[in-house]
Amino acid sequence: MNQFYCGRCKIVFEGEEARCKCGKKRLKPPVVNDIMFLTFRIHGPTSGMLEDLLEQHEIPFMRQESRGGVPGAAFGKSSHFDYFVPFGAYAKAKELDEIVPR
Ligand SMILES: [Zn+2]
Repeated sequence: MNQFYCGRCKIVFEGEEARCKCGKKRLKPPVVNDIMFLTFRIHGPTSGMLEDLLEQHEIPFMRQESRGGVPGAAFGKSSHFDYFVPFGAYAKAKELDEIVPR
């Protein structure tokens, strides 16, 4: 099994073939600076807690308004953030994400 990084989905997966479920081909193994999707969070205290923890551990992150629609949310207005971190910090960032309540 090899590891591949898909820059379109921002994920790493294991497989025999360098081809992601999204159809993207000719993928390469991940390198430390590849941007990974970490998690998504509702705007609010827990998203702030996660950001504080990432900063305390000196993990650089990117935050984007989530494009996914959320039932009940006002149309056209996102109430979620998507978070991204570099592959090199992903394992640690994932641990932090898991200790912050949803
Ligand atoms: Zn993909």
